[in-house]
Amino acid sequence: MAKSNIPGSQALNVSVSESLYQALQKRCLETGETIDHLVQDSLAKALGVEHHTLYQVSTSTALVQGVYQGCVNVGTIKSHGDFGLGTYDALDGEGLMLDGHVYQALGDGTVIEPADSASVPFWVSTEFEADRTVIVESVNSWEELCSQIDALRNSQNLFAAIRIDGVFDEIHYRVACKSAPGTDLVTATSHQAEFKLKDVTGTLLGFWSPTYARTFNIPGYHLHLLSGDHRHGGHVLGVRAKNLRLQVMDANNISMALPESPAFLKADLSGDPSAALSKAEGAQKK
Ligand SMILES: [Zn+2]
Repeated sequence: MAKSNIPGSQALNVSVSESLYQALQKRCLETGETIDHLVQDSLAKALGVEHHTLYQVSTSTALVQGVYQGCVNVGTIKSHGDFGLGTYDALDGEGLMLDGHVYQALGDGTVIEPADSASVPFWVSTEFEADRTVIVESVNSWEELCSQIDALRNSQNLFAAIRIDGVFDEIHYRVACKSAPGTDLVTATSHQAEFKLKDVTGTLLGFWSPTYARTFNIPGYHLHLLSGDHRHGGHVLGVRAKNLRLQVMDANNISMALPESPAFLKADLSGDPSAALSKAEGAQKK
């Protein structure tokens, strides 16, 4: 097995029987799928690996209500994928997972790899495998980036995982700061730390979620940055860049782990958190 030239994947060199090879080629011709995709699909089924599946911890409405006591640990998160984002117990920074490693971006601007025993109150992860890849020639704003990714999604009703690699001419991001449990998300993020970096190599990773998912995920695009040297990271607010490699994966299964903490059991999760989410997930309004 060797590192392939596709980020986050390994190149596999195996011998198969002539008849299997013929069958593989026949299927590729019939369906238009690539050999890579078919082999990956078959292996995932045979090995029981969650495929095109999002694993989510808790709900966005709970987070908005201030239910952010950690309930699932990093070790468990790692067993449900190699790619994802979230936050940590007491809203202590931003969570990132890339190529199987989990990172914690802290409010002082540093990034650490937390122990497997660290716990998270909200997380979304998946086994990332791109369905489509393009080069984005140039983007001058967050909105422009979003519309370029729009062109690569098939539906407003399926979730998508998104990975973007390249050099960012300018990137604006925030890191949530540790807050007392019960503090609602809008109040908690009103004193978030914001950062701007220039000419940084790195990866944006995250998800697009449908509007109907607003009570449990974050509708629209939600991307976190991890710099190539793993020293900087956070929740992306703005971007300017050229020649980015954009990969999109469709996701049509969701597995959710709901907390059984007293705070979650008693929370009122019947409301629509959209307005609070767009305020809490955006730049600080000064
Ligand atoms: Zn975020």
